[in-house]
Amino acid sequence: MLRFTPVLTFLLLGAAAFAVARPSLAEDSADLILRHGVFYPVEPAGRVEGSLAVRGGRIVYLGPDAGADRFRGPKTRVIDLAGRAVTPGLIDAHSHLGGLGQALQEVDLKGAATFDEVVRRVREAAGRVPAGSWVRGGGWDQNRWPDKQFPTHDALSAAVPDRPVWLDRVDGHAALVNARAMEILKLDASTKDPSGGRFLRDAQGRPTGVMIDNAKGEMAGRLPGLSLEERQRGLRLAARHCVERGLTTVTDMGIGDPYYQAYDALRRAGELPLRAALFLGDDADLLARWFKRGPEIDPEARLTVRGVKMYIDGALGSRGAALIEPYSDDPNNLGLLVSTGDHLEEVSRRALAAGFQVAVHAIGDRGGLVAIDAMERALGGPKPEARFRLEHSQVLRVQDIQRMARLGIIASMQPTHATSDMPWAGDRVGPARLAGAYAWRKVLDAGGRLALGSDFPVESDDPRLGLYAAVTRQDLQGNPPGGWLPGERLTREEALRGFTLDAAWSLFLDKEVGSLAVGKRADLVVFARDPMTVPVAEIPKAEIDYTVVDGRMVFERGSSERGNGR
Ligand SMILES: [Zn+2]
Repeated sequence: MLRFTPVLTFLLLGAAAFAVARPSLAEDSADLILRHGVFYPVEPAGRVEGSLAVRGGRIVYLGPDAGADRFRGPKTRVIDLAGRAVTPGLIDAHSHLGGLGQALQEVDLKGAATFDEVVRRVREAAGRVPAGSWVRGGGWDQNRWPDKQFPTHDALSAAVPDRPVWLDRVDGHAALVNARAMEILKLDASTKDPSGGRFLRDAQGRPTGVMIDNAKGEMAGRLPGLSLEERQRGLRLAARHCVERGLTTVTDMGIGDPYYQAYDALRRAGELPLRAALFLGDDADLLARWFKRGPEIDPEARLTVRGVKMYIDGALGSRGAALIEPYSDDPNNLGLLVSTGDHLEEVSRRALAAGFQVAVHAIGDRGGLVAIDAMERALGGPKPEARFRLEHSQVLRVQDIQRMARLGIIASMQPTHATSDMPWAGDRVGPARLAGAYAWRKVLDAGGRLALGSDFPVESDDPRLGLYAAVTRQDLQGNPPGGWLPGERLTREEALRGFTLDAAWSLFLDKEVGSLAVGKRADLVVFARDPMTVPVAEIPKAEIDYTVVDGRMVFERGSSERGNGR
């Protein structure tokens, strides 16, 4: 691979820009020029000080400030960055935008010190929920309240009589519903307790609204699905939330047609401010339809459907991840495979033939082994262009990390999972297996490709937290000192590449976005403080001033006082 020095890069970029430049015709002038900036193109590595010009949604110039003048016309918006830093738009390679949309609409009841406080928060939120929609919330904990008793629905039903309300307890093992919800769910005195669950009742045997374990599960099964409008509303909210954090491309891992339809309607209406890459869930009918129809590759690269998300095992925290040797803290437990290698192989073959990639959730080393074996059989040998992905890749044997690199299987990893799991991951797998745990550095050292993301809303959607976790392997308080398994830390350049160009590669979007280069779509982020040079502890606080998608401002912080000057 050629490696350009920054100076040579500078000259090459300047020359390329000169070749396409023709002076001062209005139709040739740029729509946007960012001047006096520090640009991190990602490929080639390094930085470029100067200007970037955008026309028709694409980058037409990146180089010295003087060279950008010929792109300036009467309608060009020129922003003086005064030395601010610009990176390619950030990409979350594994996320759930629909899930984030739902999470953002839930009432947060964490920390409520009384039941009255719960009712107050829910009443307030209910006013913003359209008629007919459920009011959802979670996080209440009666142990924080003076009497430490489970609540009853009465005060809640009186405060919100007209809309159904469902409030999860902080641990997810119980929920409280109001009277309107009980009506819809057909929960009354005649409802029997299921095994492994209980509806709390008053002296007359009537449900008080609190449902424990399987009783909650049974009622959850009766909840109506979201309408198209509800899905669209969630996606709009979530997309706006993401562009405010510098994300210009996100994913939705494991969806079905109802969400696809919501995305498609938003795209047609011009209401999708960022790019979304959708991965279909592992459902036989859904896949049969899509494999027949073929991938959807939007010419504007706003909405693509060309991936299939499958599962091979569970999660490490609940000891559902499948391990080759037993859990170090549970010697009779190997975890659980939720699918088979034969199934993964069969779907992978059909996906390949139909033009789709596959992404397999694999958290334990046995899950990884079975999934990589299956992909290898389907690929028939090294095939990086198929862009098969191993999701999470949390615990792997080192030889399997090397095998992934050889086959071109992408490690799709989430840096904040490591910093969330680090307090107990060592208990689960013991010191020897930690060598291949959350091992980003080993992926790169093996010559593999690393696509970074967050798995939001499981973790925070803020990509700055992911960059920070990737380079520090510390929590936000700076613990543990030096970082957890510090040999696996990435440089900032590597972390940025994982959240931009290599994430784009993992979505077949690398020809369009992921780096700042003449000809590419102008997706970029302007930071108030340079995340590539501030002290690492300040990376999460590097404010975003502008987020640009296809050359258009989709987020602008404090637009009135900032940025329009020459
Ligand atoms: Zn996920």
